[in-house]
Amino acid sequence: MSDRLVKIYDVTLRDGTQGEDISFSIHDKLRIAQKLDELGVHYIEGGWPGSNERDEGFFEEAKRLRLRKAKIAAFGSTRRAKITCEDDGSIQALLKAETPAVTIVGKSWDFHVKEALKISLKENIEIIHDSVTYLKERVDEVFFDAEHFFDGYKNNPEHTIDAIQAAYDAGADVLVLCDTNGGTMPWEIEAIVKEVNQKLDYPSLGIHTHNDGEVGVANTLYAVKEGANQIQGTINGYGERCGNANLCSIIPDLKLKLGVECLDDTELAKLYETSHFIHELTNLPAIKHRPYVGESAFAHKGGLHASAVSKNPKTYEHVSPDVVGNRRRILISDLSGRSNILYKAKELGVELDPKDKRVVAILNDLKKLENEGYEFEGADASFELLVRKAIGEYRKPFHLLSARTLTEKRANDDDTSTEATIVVEVDGVTEHMVASGNGPVNAMDQALRKALERFYPNLKEVRLKDYRVRVLSTKQGTDAVVRVLIESGDGESDWSTVGVSENIVEASWKALIDSIDYKILKDEAKKAAKARG
Ligand SMILES: [Zn+2]
Repeated sequence: MSDRLVKIYDVTLRDGTQGEDISFSIHDKLRIAQKLDELGVHYIEGGWPGSNERDEGFFEEAKRLRLRKAKIAAFGSTRRAKITCEDDGSIQALLKAETPAVTIVGKSWDFHVKEALKISLKENIEIIHDSVTYLKERVDEVFFDAEHFFDGYKNNPEHTIDAIQAAYDAGADVLVLCDTNGGTMPWEIEAIVKEVNQKLDYPSLGIHTHNDGEVGVANTLYAVKEGANQIQGTINGYGERCGNANLCSIIPDLKLKLGVECLDDTELAKLYETSHFIHELTNLPAIKHRPYVGESAFAHKGGLHASAVSKNPKTYEHVSPDVVGNRRRILISDLSGRSNILYKAKELGVELDPKDKRVVAILNDLKKLENEGYEFEGADASFELLVRKAIGEYRKPFHLLSARTLTEKRANDDDTSTEATIVVEVDGVTEHMVASGNGPVNAMDQALRKALERFYPNLKEVRLKDYRVRVLSTKQGTDAVVRVLIESGDGESDWSTVGVSENIVEASWKALIDSIDYKILKDEAKKAAKARG
């Protein structure tokens, strides 16, 4: 199937935004469009210009976007019954968007024509033909989305074929077969696309599937196998209900498994970055387990796997992570064998001998800490400190002499005020600092950093990016334990640290200290490397 080029038509900004909990501002949408263009998709559907102000605003601004490859497409519907395209507000809004491509959706399932539109099948065909003709005279490329195509085909194949035939005759550039309700199975898609190809003498077909049967990606691949050459989907599979077909899986599947060209190799290597960039803008929790682009997609936990992978990655990886811009991770946990520790230490630039007593010591430390509720899989920086301590490469950058927080709530005051007082000692010099914050952790963070900035000015760059608390199940006879995970960044890189205690302030404190420790050590290591040249 090589030498074939299929085009990627991204619908993240239209279908994707119909997903629950997903909302993008105009500014977000413009940034996403830019990012999708860098990834190398061929079309970016920006929204439905006739339907809301935000989409209209996007198309207005999008005229000024400088895209290297992608074309912006506007989405709309065939004209309404009993009026002309000239009088149809939605069709006119499409033209006003001034995009090089337009996609219109039309009915192809007789059930919808009769029940929703309440018009005759003949009139539906006229509407499709008329709308496509009108647009094709005014826009470079016109795509026809045949809504509910597969459900329609199973009920009344003649009408669905008539519907796409009408769009085809009117000059539609691609006929997009839509599994709008997302319940069709791959073998049905395969059979129906094959029949459509024969009945219409191999037209240019597109595929648009939803994931309600968890086979959105499979359905797309089957359609491609049968000749579809425009692929519609969303980044990370965002979309209404269970989402649209996930382009982050489809694109590498096409390239790496089917040998079908869609993006070039450099573009494919931007997939991870694109997925995470757009995910950040959704503000949703991490998507660890997604194929290819998830943090866990190339993570190895079992000691045996880690050992084999460090010898030859092919033993437990179906493709190499760097192909899609992801990376291999060796997870540190009580399932870890020696090889995980060795691999991790090597990542830190420390070569350890497998028989080294310190390796056993680290393993024992890990097991003890994990028993207490620690988890290092999401806390790389805390783990690095643990290793550095074990191998004698750790110098305590400061000593805490005392810390106190005070939270006060007064009647007639909506706000709660929190203040932290910290006393630290660095190389025999004592520093005393008071700071306020919007909570105890924030106040402690402020006070600690202010106290240390005199000695370590780079601490100004540190930002607390994420703070997560998890209450761990109570062991018999003891109080509940909380685990705090902190993510920090300095504009150059991000790192995560962990703390565990029965007291939430104490747990936060431990994670915070690790974060500051890590930043200081990181900068010292960088300085030392620079000095060495
Ligand atoms: Zn859809």
